[in-house]
Amino acid sequence: MATRPGGCLFQLGYYFYSKTRVGYYMHRRDLAKARRKFEDGHSKTEPTKFNGLQILPIAILEDNYSYLVMDTINKTAVCVDPADAQAVQAAIEAHSVTPVAILTTHKHWDHSGGNSDLKHVYPEMRVYGGAMDNIPAVTHPVADGDVLQFGAMKFEVNFTPGHTVGHVIFRLDGSPFGAPDSLFSGDHLFLCGCGRMFEGAPGVMLRSLDHLTELKDDTLVWPGHEYAMDNLEFAIDLEQNNQAAQQKLAWVREQRKDRACTSPSTIEEEKQYNPFLRTNTDTILQSLGLELSKDGETSKDAVRAQALAEIRQRKDHFKYKL
Ligand SMILES: [Zn+2]
Repeated sequence: MATRPGGCLFQLGYYFYSKTRVGYYMHRRDLAKARRKFEDGHSKTEPTKFNGLQILPIAILEDNYSYLVMDTINKTAVCVDPADAQAVQAAIEAHSVTPVAILTTHKHWDHSGGNSDLKHVYPEMRVYGGAMDNIPAVTHPVADGDVLQFGAMKFEVNFTPGHTVGHVIFRLDGSPFGAPDSLFSGDHLFLCGCGRMFEGAPGVMLRSLDHLTELKDDTLVWPGHEYAMDNLEFAIDLEQNNQAAQQKLAWVREQRKDRACTSPSTIEEEKQYNPFLRTNTDTILQSLGLELSKDGETSKDAVRAQALAEIRQRKDHFKYKL
């Protein structure tokens, strides 16, 4: 969901979008509009290949990504956030795989809006999603720490509230394929960004983000949107001497000249340039005019939550400055 936060009108709009069928009709309209705008999707994507595993981003809507995660030995596949059932079905057929499950990061229609249609085409599919998030067509609600096994593909669920009250992320264990782990982060973590805090206080989001920094550095990050360019421009505005952000932006600009997909990044990269993961650094706090107090962890987290809220607010208004 990409609507800009604001006052009462925004809250009313968000209520109808997230809690009623109005959201679904808006989603159908957005799908039709994006199909008219982009003949072959908003970005060019190709599968990342490992031994027995392929991960294919599918560009849908204006800037969303669904993912088809394929076990190439057993010819089975898992679909992450297949909000455009038609596009995902085309990818399934093009790769001659049998889809076994849908993994849904959260309830927003641009992530969950294809669940019912895809389940209708492939009735055997299981539909997973956060137990707290009212996911359409869900057959298997999941909670923090659940492990989902599909042949050699093993995913661990982590509960990451903040963007929505029941947002979850899915981490694929890469070891059976000699690959790094892969994190399907939905609207929790983007390349150099994080989701808006529609349904969680900054302190809640901070805990969900801190979880990410405990993952292995080489974990691949597959987010729910193509937001890399805007996010890096904002990060550099906030932290002007961040070399990692500057180098990544130069790379992203090259990629985007040809509309190439910028996924995946890695957790190691995100820790270097993503301001939402850097609320414990002096450079970020100084640029916000904040500093950590010295009297214990609780107050340290309070300052970091304040920093997170401030960064989020600045990001929401960043484009208006340009
Ligand atoms: Zn969302």
